[in-house]
Amino acid sequence: MTKLDLFFDPTRCFIGGKWVAPAGGEYLPIENPSTGETIGEIARGQAADVEAAVAAAQAGLAGAWGKTPAFERGRILTRMGQAVLARVDELARIEAMDVGKPLKQARADAVALARYLEFYGGACDKIMGETIPYLDGYTVYTLREPHGVTGHIIPWNYPMQIIGRSVTAALAMGNAAVLKPAEEACLTAIAFAKIAEEAGLPAGALNVVPGLGEEAGAALTAHPGVNHISFTGSLAVGELIQRAAAKNVIPVTLELGGKSPQLVFEDADLDRALPFLVNAGIQNAGQTCSASSRILVHRSIHDQVLERMAERYRALRVGPAIDDLDVGPLVSGRQQEIVGEFLSDLGGGEIAARGEVVSGAPTGGHYLAPALVSGVKPDNRLAQDEIFGPVQVVIPFDDEAEAVATANGTEFGLVAGVWSRDGGRTMRVAKAIRTGQVFLNNYGAGGGVELPFGGVGKSGHGREKGFEALYGFSVLKTVAAWHG
Ligand code: NAP
Ligand code: MG
Repeated sequence: MTKLDLFFDPTRCFIGGKWVAPAGGEYLPIENPSTGETIGEIARGQAADVEAAVAAAQAGLAGAWGKTPAFERGRILTRMGQAVLARVDELARIEAMDVGKPLKQARADAVALARYLEFYGGACDKIMGETIPYLDGYTVYTLREPHGVTGHIIPWNYPMQIIGRSVTAALAMGNAAVLKPAEEACLTAIAFAKIAEEAGLPAGALNVVPGLGEEAGAALTAHPGVNHISFTGSLAVGELIQRAAAKNVIPVTLELGGKSPQLVFEDADLDRALPFLVNAGIQNAGQTCSASSRILVHRSIHDQVLERMAERYRALRVGPAIDDLDVGPLVSGRQQEIVGEFLSDLGGGEIAARGEVVSGAPTGGHYLAPALVSGVKPDNRLAQDEIFGPVQVVIPFDDEAEAVATANGTEFGLVAGVWSRDGGRTMRVAKAIRTGQVFLNNYGAGGGVELPFGGVGKSGHGREKGFEALYGFSVLKTVAAWHG
């Protein structure tokens, strides 16, 4: 299945409510990672397109969008959520073709996008300021106002979910957004613009400029007309974004990488824990910021947990996204090389088990059999660096203090899981761990649109999801009135 059947034109940028060809007249190929085939092309947006998009966003704020009341913004977002739900299977198929995500997982992303639209659609008119008791003769109140133009630069691994938590929250607060999706994953971002147009989102509120990071992305980051940047992606690019934002003295939200641990204590309910331990490593072929790539296990149950995980690994089937197996291809040949390179030097560790690429998987696809690795020291690069592929390391610990120290012993701090039947211990460990989210006897809470999310350390700063995102996408103004 190689034909793309789309309800929008993928070769256009969406700027100021219009579908326009990229100013430079250049295009980039769309690759299907399951086959390696080119299945279409997208616009190669550049500085001139970003310029037009920022101007359109400013015009939108000065015009109809800026005057749209909060409840009406809510209605529009809610309509968009309904439109996404009506197209869930279609969006899933498009995403599967574009980024190699197995259909069920792609469908879950589309459903999550709808949930974000529902959540933020419902929240638009429920964000309020305060009145503050002050001196005699004064009335003081606060206003929550949009930043203005928000820039959104997102990665290829969960385009729909990240659009949901970033762009829809910005729109809910009345900002005008310019979105630069990842070159490898532009289709659902363009689909989102089409859905916004059909739902009646006023011109300029949302602008989408597909293109390369170093071109469209860099132009957006450096643009003096942008008032806030929300970036989700790698640590290396995150540093560039923060530096560029410093030049314009604007706030940034950085959602970067992770090396998230799950701590399995000797009293854990292993029957419940095991599916979470493995799924958190292989979901989306491990190309997940909150992937749990380190499994820390009490030494007394280490061999048992390793063997039970290995059993599951041996049963994993890897193949074309459209066949909807456990694991799809990696997003690109480059990603396949990066992960393969990590596995070429196990630093004293050994492969405990691997999944299997199904026979007949197209030879041009970027397949990699998931790998479970044991015997790796906590300071080895396999246990320190974000691999971004279906690879997990299992590391023993002797006591709670060592478990916490190892969990905290990387430069990242995104998510952690704790498995123990001792309630006191889970709460103690939750406090001691340095991450933005901690899950006790679960991992990921099924996505959690409502739950604030973000990192500490090199995993980034700022929070998206939940109401917290709305505070991040707004500015607080204090008004002090003297009336005598
Ligand atoms: P990436 O290489 O950093 O790219 C992310 C985005 O930045 C893409 O749109 C990219 O454009 C753009 N970009 C690249 N260079 C740029 C520049 N000089 N200026 C402005 N923009 C630029 O990350 P990725 O490989 O797509 O995604 C994987 C990473 O994202 C992992 O580290 C993962 O942990 C992280 N991630 C974090 C979260 C989180 O919430 N914490 C969620 C998902 C992913 P092009 O790709 O089109 O060139
Ligand atoms: Mg692609």
